[in-house]
Amino acid sequence: MGQTLTEKILDDHLVEGELTPGEEIGIEIDQVLTQDTTGTLVWLQFEALGLEEVQTELAAQYCDHQTYQFDFKNTDDHRFLRSAAGTFGAHFSRPGNGICHNVHKENFAEPGKTMLGSDSHTPTPGGLGELAIGSGGLDVAVAMGGGAYYIEMPEVVNVRLEGELPEWATAKDVILELLRRLSVKGGVGKVLEYTGPGVETLTVPERTTITNMGTELGATSSIFPTDENTKDYLSRLDREDVYEELQPDDDAEYSDEIVVDLSEIEPLIAEPSMPDNVVPVGEVAGTDVEQVIIGSCTNGAYEDILPGAKMLEGRNTDKKTEMIVAPGSKQASEMLARQGWTAEMMAAGVNFSEATCGACIGIGHVPASDSVSLRTFNRNFEGRSGIEDDNVYLCSPEVATAAAIKGEIVDPRDLADELGDLEAPGLEMPDEYTGNSESDLIAPDEAVDDDLIKGPNIGDVPLKDPLEGEVGGEALLKMEDNITTDHIIPATQDILMYRSNVPKLSEFTLSRVDDTFAERALESDGGVLVAGENYGQGSSREHAALCPMYLGIESVLAQSFARIHKANLFNFGIVPLEIDEDTYDKIEQGDDVDIVDDVAEAVRSGQEEFTIRVNDDWEASASLDASEREREILAAGGKLPHTKKQHEEG
Ligand code: SF4
Repeated sequence: MGQTLTEKILDDHLVEGELTPGEEIGIEIDQVLTQDTTGTLVWLQFEALGLEEVQTELAAQYCDHQTYQFDFKNTDDHRFLRSAAGTFGAHFSRPGNGICHNVHKENFAEPGKTMLGSDSHTPTPGGLGELAIGSGGLDVAVAMGGGAYYIEMPEVVNVRLEGELPEWATAKDVILELLRRLSVKGGVGKVLEYTGPGVETLTVPERTTITNMGTELGATSSIFPTDENTKDYLSRLDREDVYEELQPDDDAEYSDEIVVDLSEIEPLIAEPSMPDNVVPVGEVAGTDVEQVIIGSCTNGAYEDILPGAKMLEGRNTDKKTEMIVAPGSKQASEMLARQGWTAEMMAAGVNFSEATCGACIGIGHVPASDSVSLRTFNRNFEGRSGIEDDNVYLCSPEVATAAAIKGEIVDPRDLADELGDLEAPGLEMPDEYTGNSESDLIAPDEAVDDDLIKGPNIGDVPLKDPLEGEVGGEALLKMEDNITTDHIIPATQDILMYRSNVPKLSEFTLSRVDDTFAERALESDGGVLVAGENYGQGSSREHAALCPMYLGIESVLAQSFARIHKANLFNFGIVPLEIDEDTYDKIEQGDDVDIVDDVAEAVRSGQEEFTIRVNDDWEASASLDASEREREILAAGGKLPHTKKQHEEG
């Protein structure tokens, strides 16, 4: 039987397991990427592992999420990241040089390689045939140390593209159409592999817009085959030498097939406040718009900004609509400036931001209360823009620019009819990509530091001892269903600035549920948490397991766990036990909860059922669902001590 492109790349990198969907596989990682909000912990963990040099073919550290400096903490983090990249052998992209996915795509993405990144939109270079996956920072640190990355073998779905996009329809509309059809859960546990005659009608920048937003479908990754368009794009970047032709076998078998006829795609828009709330633009036409932003890792490339610039040539933005361009990379900014487009847009009323994530995570350009903002970003979750009562719509640069001209949402085809002289800009690539200052992207052999520089806000990563003796203690907090990682460690700027300072950050643990928790946990010297269903849903934030570990939490007893958070609990040596509804109802906050069994021995031996004794009064059972590898990690006190031990043993 033939192989899909995904299977071919995984097969080439397989170090453990078989390519059967649902089975755990270990793969070798060629490239890694980290950004500033997750990167400090990655390098502190790399250091704690006792590693001295990056082992992957390539590692890149970007500073893109929090480039504005409120006080010394972000600046110190950036300096630490530069010093870590220099000391351990990674490329360093300075603050302002651009968003990790854009800069990586332009400089490092390679067909056929595997990449792991501590950011959820890591799959972006799938548009160039690289198989890229987002993960927690500890997995990135381990991969940089030469360790395999373990994942459940995903299903591979064939997204067959037919036809060609009509005027005014864009790659953004293709991925919005998939979100409309499949929802934000439609890609979970899957790699979306694009095939069919429509592929060759899309340029690489269009393909990467689609692979970038595969994340919004919940997909593990998204990937396109490579062809003349890939080669052409790489040659314009002066990187043709990394081109490799990659196609699935003709008789490859996919778990499912979705057909998209590109010729039927029309301008679409995601209404507030979910990326899958998608309707044709015409359905919401006439809605007043106060703010328009073109940018982000989805639509912040040169090719994404140019259509807006062309549409605005000789025109003005509406007087009550502010339009901002936030380029995805400084290279894009520089090219637009050199070609005169920046001046052209400024004359039309556009403001320019530095190349950063910024507004995408509510840092800068927060919309006015109860106003409408149209953005070319990938997410419009409630409150993400920086205010709770936001109304953020997601759309293509063409739809965004049309709204900026008209002052209200309008189908650009209707605006073109109305104005008479507005032509569809289409997608145009530059003959060559120029710019990219050597000072902004520092290669390992040009590093300016060879020692770590830690400011006062940067601490060490705490390590846990191997599991032994009694496990349990006071039930320090009893929580409801659906506790999110945001409840455990809030992601607001005033709290996240302590991301490199675990003792300080831990003071905020579960403060949204009970602001006395952290203090009580430290005083009690250990204890357990009790929760209802779906504990730890939300992001892959490792701090949500690391901080409870630092506070001495030994076990979480929940009715069920969110998948990624459960993996993080294993990674930080906290025993995740499942309890039934009766047990959950019966346990009270403040009860004394002991796990009766010799937990270390039971975890190692594969025991699934455990007995818990509450207040020395009654008993119930709790279960541990874990793979052999997860049990080893748990028994060692977490992934960090486990990997460290493996390295020490050679
Ligand atoms: Fe994440 Fe937004 Fe930055 Fe993209 S632009 S990496 S989605 S914060």
